[in-house]
This record gives sequence, C-alpha cells and structure tokens, in this order.
Amino acid sequence: MGDRFDAVVVGAGVIGLTTALRLQQAGARVAVLTAEQSTETTSSVAAAVWYPAHTRFEPRVLEWATRTHDEFARQAAEGVPGVVMRPTRMLLRGRPHDNPWWAAALPDFRVLRGDDVRAPFTGGWAFTAATVEMSRYLPWLQQTFRTAGGTLIRRRVDALEQAGIWAPVVVNSSGLAARALCGDTEVRPARGQLVLVANPGLHTSVRDADNADGYTYVHPRSTDVVLGGTFELGEWDTTPSPATAAAILRRCTELVPELAGAPVLGHRVGLRPHRDSGVRLDTDPRPPDRIRQLVHNYGHGGAGVTLTWGCADAVTALVHQPRQHCSPT
Ligand SMILES: Cc1cc2nc3c(=O)[nH]c(=O)nc-3n(C[C@H](O)[C@H](O)[C@H](O)COP(=O)(O)OP(=O)(O)OC[C@H]3O[C@@H](n4cnc5c(N)ncnc54)[C@H](O)[C@@H]3O)c2cc1C
Repeated sequence: MGDRFDAVVVGAGVIGLTTALRLQQAGARVAVLTAEQSTETTSSVAAAVWYPAHTRFEPRVLEWATRTHDEFARQAAEGVPGVVMRPTRMLLRGRPHDNPWWAAALPDFRVLRGDDVRAPFTGGWAFTAATVEMSRYLPWLQQTFRTAGGTLIRRRVDALEQAGIWAPVVVNSSGLAARALCGDTEVRPARGQLVLVANPGLHTSVRDADNADGYTYVHPRSTDVVLGGTFELGEWDTTPSPATAAAILRRCTELVPELAGAPVLGHRVGLRPHRDSGVRLDTDPRPPDRIRQLVHNYGHGGAGVTLTWGCADAVTALVHQPRQHCSPT
C-alpha cells in the first residue's frame, strides 16, 4: 500500500485539508486519514474569522497569517463557497493600545480614535478580513481534493507510525489529538462556547476584547450571527453551559443592540488545540522506522483558520526540501 501515495496527511480539519491540497498542487499523490467526518471536527465549530487570537508574534507566524489573509481574499473574489471578506472593528477600552503585530498583514488596517467610537470604548482598529462559513468551506476543500485525485480514508490511527503503511511521508495535522499521538503535553484544550442567532441584517464583525466579563465578539454570516465567546484552558467538557450562553447573549447584545430579540438558532462548543509554545510546524528529527519523513503541523489554538494556508505552504516547502531527499514527486 505504501506505493499508492507519496504523502499521507493525518487529519481532515481545516489544517489537514489545506495541507493536503497544497501537497497535491505541488504534484504529490496524497491521502488524508481522518478519525471523524469533517462535520465532527473542531474546525467545523470555529467562528472562523481571520484574526490571530491568542497568538504571539514570530516572523514565521506573521508570514503564515499574511499568506492566509491573501489566499482568502483571492478565494472570496473567485466566489469560493463560504468565504466572505467583511469589515471588522476591534473596539478598545482604557488607555491607547499599540498597533497589533499582525496589522502588517492587512492592507487596509486603520486606527479608530475616540471620535469614531462610543463610550465605554476609547478607540479601536478597523480592517477587512475573511469570515469563513465552515459548513460550506470544509465540504468544498474535501471536494476539491477528491476531484484532483485525492483519497480520503476514514480511519483512526493509534500511533503515527501506522500512517506509514500508506505513504513514506506523513504529515501530522491531528489537532488536539497530537497530545496523545506525539506525547506532547504542551497541547491542551481551550474550550470555546458559541451561540448562533438569526442575522437581523448585520454585516460588520465587532469585537470587544477588553470586556471585564469576558472576550466578546459578534460575527455575522450569510444567514446567522456567531456570538462568543470563551477561552477555557484545560477544560474538556463539550456540553454547552446555559449560564455561559446567557452571559454571551447579554454581552453581545450590549455590544451590538440590533441583536436584541434575534431568535437563537443553536449552541456550539469546540476544543481549540492550544499549545503553550505555539504551533508546532517542523520535520520530526526522529521519525518512526516505517516513515521516511514526518512533518508536524498542529497546535493552532484559536487561530487555525487564520494561519491555515500559510502553514500548508510551509509544510509543502519542508516536504520538498531536496536536502532531505523527501520530494514526493
Ligand atoms: C469556538 C471556537 C471558535 C473558533 N474561532 C476561530 C476563528 O474565528 N478563527 C480562527 O482562526 N480559528 C478559530 N478557532 C480555532 C480553529 O477552529 C482551530 O484552530 C482549527 O479548527 C484547528 O484545526 P485542526 O485541523 O488542527 O484540528 P481539527 O479540526 O480538530 O481536526 C483534527 C483532525 O484530526 C483527526 N484525528 C485526530 N486524531 C486522529 C487519529 N488518531 N487518527 C486519525 N485522525 C485523527 C480528526 O478526526 C480531525 O479530522 C475556533 C475554535 C473554536 C472551538
């Protein structure tokens, strides 16, 4: 079976699927192994707006964020299902904030002054960024991959070594499961709870990160609005909490009063694959015997959608490094 594919990607969340597509576009025969349907992944729960939340500056992270922003802008212009570029406002409280490190990724980033916002806000940042409706985007990624000859295999592996049965190059995009598959105890869940309401006609994404009662955001989509949120480190419970939902609804309605009375359509909980020292994207120096090259691409926390295409490009460059004799072509 090892001859059938050049590379196998473990994981069919947004990270695994974008990586598989890029490897395929570089000429490799690619399979994706997944334990779950894409609708059951963390990626399917994501609010999925471009925003490097809970992400520290590193030059390579800025590069990934920039590439992803540009790719989404291109896809939105092409009409890729679920990808829309939206005006976004991050409202700030208290003393003036420095511009964020990721402003460099955005061609139209601008600072809002006191006159541009109402109390209790003292300023903010405005920019255009992608909102991605994952219920449409994940199927599009899968379909594009399959149409170009890719193979999706529904299988849970107990160890990454097992993926070496399919191909000599293995990419580990298993998200939170990397904690067990790699014994990486830095990987922990960051629980996120959302409320979905009918869209009363909103178009602009709005955030209030300084809210003392919790990070608050309102992200309109085509028919609904995503209201959030929470970032609960180390919490594994995926049952929506009614008290948390009520608090999210209250904070979001204070932030955007047009939401008052909007019918509640549903509640979602997902476990972000947080990693204390940031994303792991590297070639494993000690791959299991059966695997010629093992590349890790996991631990994207609250910014997996924001970094996804940049990380896919970086993995593809690693797999093609001639020094390692791992070109899949
Ligand atoms: C409430 C919430 C809101 C969010 N909002 C945003 C946002 O606005 N912007 C943003 O950028 N990010 C956001 N995120 C974060 C984003 O969802 C994640 O960073 C991203 O989805 C991680 O993708 P992934 O592909 O690594 O993991 P996942 O989507 O979890 O996919 C992991 C894949 O690995 C497979 N797998 C796991 N174990 C095995 C195994 N043993 N064998 C085979 N396959 C296996 C799974 O089946 C799955 O296919 C949000 C997350 C949550 C929960």
